[in-house]
Amino acid sequence: MADPGFGIYVHIPFCKHRCHYCDFNTYEGQDDLHASYADALVKEVRRWDGPTRSATSVFFGGGTPTLLPSHQLGLVLQAVRDRHGLSEDAEVTAEANPETVDEAYFTALLEAGFNRVSVGVQSLVPKVLVGLGRTHPPEVALRALDAAHRAGFDDVNADLIYGSPWEEDEDWVRSLEGVIDSGVAHVSAYALTVEEGTPLATLVRSGRTPGVDPDIQARRHDIASQLLGAAGFARYEISNWSRPGRASRHNVLYWSAGEYLGFGAGAHAHVEGERWWSTRLPRDFIAAVQADSSTTAGSERLDDDARAGEALMLGLRLRTGVDLDGFSKRFGASPLSKRTGTLDRLREVGLLELSGSRLRLSDRGTLLANEALCELL
Ligand code: SF4
Repeated sequence: MADPGFGIYVHIPFCKHRCHYCDFNTYEGQDDLHASYADALVKEVRRWDGPTRSATSVFFGGGTPTLLPSHQLGLVLQAVRDRHGLSEDAEVTAEANPETVDEAYFTALLEAGFNRVSVGVQSLVPKVLVGLGRTHPPEVALRALDAAHRAGFDDVNADLIYGSPWEEDEDWVRSLEGVIDSGVAHVSAYALTVEEGTPLATLVRSGRTPGVDPDIQARRHDIASQLLGAAGFARYEISNWSRPGRASRHNVLYWSAGEYLGFGAGAHAHVEGERWWSTRLPRDFIAAVQADSSTTAGSERLDDDARAGEALMLGLRLRTGVDLDGFSKRFGASPLSKRTGTLDRLREVGLLELSGSRLRLSDRGTLLANEALCELL
């Protein structure tokens, strides 16, 4: 397996407003913490004394990174550059919420060293946005995509959600056509999931909102593949499409079971088989950094077989699949032989395909990936 590189994730756990479906570690109404959180991040990145190497990708995610002033994101990125280093061609992404950005903001991000932005569009249909609990109309999302391009970003992703109970096929087509026409280089399109503990889960449980229908979601995935494919995008992962050469390095690193550090409240890291994660609450994170204490809330070490199973499951999400020869070189023969029965069965029922030494999901397997891949852990 080729070296997937090394990633650095920076978590910004604030949002203006929580969307109904969201279960990320993010908080609204904590504006008074933004500045001290950014200061704490800079300090946390600079005081890191564990293993590190030059990052091939840096991803500022959230939450809403662009809720912070651009110069604060710039200072955190500078700390990453100083302490860890960036490879010459590093991909440096900031997630952006459409309501928090304009051309001047994107220009400042570009000047600070970001070279990719990922805009949370989700839908371009008003009733779908309202259902999801988004507070911006479609025009604001399109304006944000346009502003990113005008500022000079040529690597812009649009995040979309499909298969919500408020969406018809024609709504989904409208959203896809809108982002394609906007000139983005990358589209991430995820099926809506109803996560426990979210307002959406409560609405579905009480019967006030219908749940999601897997058959409808499979059809919408198919529509995305058709429209994006016809527009020159290639699907490189179950839910991600890009124009040639624009697959996200940071995404691919995760799916290649690569190593990464994570900074910020609730951020996870994975280096040399060890995983650890930071305390979840922004206030606790800030206090720990200010007191020069550890922010680590927990850790685990996966045994070799669990690491191999996870790498197989993640790698099969990629369109290129997993090269079994390379996999055996990396993890030894035993993880594959232990899973031979499951792999054979998934091939027999048409969910996996083997071509030479390369194993990948079939088209049908792509639609049923979650169930199929979990069996490999
Ligand atoms: S903007 Fe994104 S991170 Fe924030 S609540 Fe909505 S979905 Fe979650």
